Amino acid sequence: MIKRHIFRISILVFLFLTVLTIHRDAFAVFSATEKIPYSDFKGLIQQNSLEEVIISPTTIKGILKPEEGQKIKKNITTVKIEDPDLIKELIAHKVKFSATTNGGWGQSLFLLWFIPMIIFLIMMTRIRRGAPGAGLMSIGKSRANLYIDKDTGVTFDDVAGVDEAKEELKEVIDYLQNPQKYQRLGGKIPKGVLLVGPTGTGKTLLAKAVAGEAKVPFFSISGSGFVEMFVGVGAARVRDLFAQAQEKAPCIIFIDEMDALGKVRAASPVSGGHEERENTLNQLLVEMDGFDTKKGVILMAATNRPEILDPALLRPGRFDRHILVDRPDIKGREEILKVHCKNVKLGKGVDIKVIAARTPGFVGADLANVVNEAALLAARVGKDAVGMESFEEAINRVIAGLEKKKKVMSRKEQEIIAYHESGHALVAESVPGADKVHRISIIPRGISALGYTLQLPTEDRYLLTRSELLDRLAVLLGGRVAEEIIFHEISTGAQNDLERATDIAMSMVREYGMSEKLGPMTFHNGRRPQFLELGYRTSRELSEDVSKDIDNEVKKIVFDTHTRVKGILTENKDRLDTLAKLLLEKEVVEGDELRKLISGNVTTQKSPHL
Ligand code: ADP
Ligand code: ZN
Repeated sequence: MIKRHIFRISILVFLFLTVLTIHRDAFAVFSATEKIPYSDFKGLIQQNSLEEVIISPTTIKGILKPEEGQKIKKNITTVKIEDPDLIKELIAHKVKFSATTNGGWGQSLFLLWFIPMIIFLIMMTRIRRGAPGAGLMSIGKSRANLYIDKDTGVTFDDVAGVDEAKEELKEVIDYLQNPQKYQRLGGKIPKGVLLVGPTGTGKTLLAKAVAGEAKVPFFSISGSGFVEMFVGVGAARVRDLFAQAQEKAPCIIFIDEMDALGKVRAASPVSGGHEERENTLNQLLVEMDGFDTKKGVILMAATNRPEILDPALLRPGRFDRHILVDRPDIKGREEILKVHCKNVKLGKGVDIKVIAARTPGFVGADLANVVNEAALLAARVGKDAVGMESFEEAINRVIAGLEKKKKVMSRKEQEIIAYHESGHALVAESVPGADKVHRISIIPRGISALGYTLQLPTEDRYLLTRSELLDRLAVLLGGRVAEEIIFHEISTGAQNDLERATDIAMSMVREYGMSEKLGPMTFHNGRRPQFLELGYRTSRELSEDVSKDIDNEVKKIVFDTHTRVKGILTENKDRLDTLAKLLLEKEVVEGDELRKLISGNVTTQKSPHL
């Protein structure tokens, strides 16, 4: 703290004196000081031309009265001569006089200016080196956004509706409590855990709960906190953070808003301006590689935009463990509400299940908000318990707030999404070459898609046959076709599906020689695409005829598949309805449940030979 004050004060003194010096220099330009003999000086006194005199041990400085009509005052100096009558004369001629103890202004100013400057320079070099304990590091430590909690006091009971994430984090807790147990057999514990999910789903809370459960200190800092500071400081703070953490190990370091710090580094040096962030990011990577997991330091980070993170951060040995913290489903919401209602006096008619059903798309933070708002509303009107009507009103208020941020879906939108996802799922279950459906969800994800159908491959695949590719294409078109059949209208929600579908069809024709018309030839140039790399585009000039053929072949594949999918879904329309209704009701349907629902009588299809 003291160093920090010295630092600030010396900057102020430095600035003040700089201004002063500049001012005086400017002054000197307008009023050059003239050296005159002592006799002339005496003459000026006699003529009443002097306004003020400053006497030092060796010189005398005089300021002349301004001449008529002029504002500028002239200065003179003269070498001092032993003259006992001088003071008397000055008094007689009403000249203001004073004395100084050294050679004059210039010299004293120089000293005044020089000392703080030296202090300032010393401080600056220490800061830039970032030596622990040096000037700015104490500033770093006392900055509010690095936050150290010896015991967070948060437990897993405080976090609800994220059972899968909790399950995965149990291992981390166990390790923090007992680092030796894991190392005994030479096992390696993950260094970095990345929590991925929309804002307000409880990522910070989860990280705190891990620290709380393991009873270890919790260091937290926001990614943006690293970046705001000036040159060299971000990297120094990273070093300092790790040094502090290693001292307190076992412990957890939590970096919120990882994307602010970990954005992809610029490929070219032209970018400028981001250098500071990149230095900081590089330092983080260096520290991550350097620190010893044996000591029991675990890094956790949170982001809602994993796609923009620098791949270097996600490499093995860094943030290689990713945990999805998704928006809660209806059951999860019920559990979260229960957590937040623990200390609230509930009225008789309150049914938490109903509140959960009324709040699709809400995240934990929204639900906490609802409970709090309801309690305040009830208190305002003087009730002695929080009734259902207070909750209803609180929900409406929170929805109104969210609507402004465009986070709430209308019922109609939900229906469209339910049918869209059901379309994907039904097609996936009725074509032989697609991966089985693991889960369907219409909980808005906030990250990318609105809903999703998760397919899990049953085996690792390195080769795909033509009919398998066609089946994948069919699954991708399933969402859009379902919308067409039910609503006779198409929404923008299928854009990503269509892009991927088109890419598959293009690859089939261009890369894999799977078109009969064009034969076993490839039509690309330069860099070869990765296996099934989507979005790959060729740059070679192709003849107009060939280009047209390629386009026609791609079109044919997509159109034929579209017809095929329409056939599948029309035949299974009643199942499409049942599934969509179930989804609207439950928001999430697991793969097994889906298969039970449609078992036996689904008209499964053989892969066609287009
Ligand atoms: P994130 O870090 O994902 O943005 P936070 O952890 O900061 O979200 O959550 C903000 C607040 O919302 C928490 O302090 C808590 O009160 C509430 N909350 C969020 N998710 C949950 C949850 N799963 N269970 C209980 N409370 C939650
Ligand atoms: Zn889709």
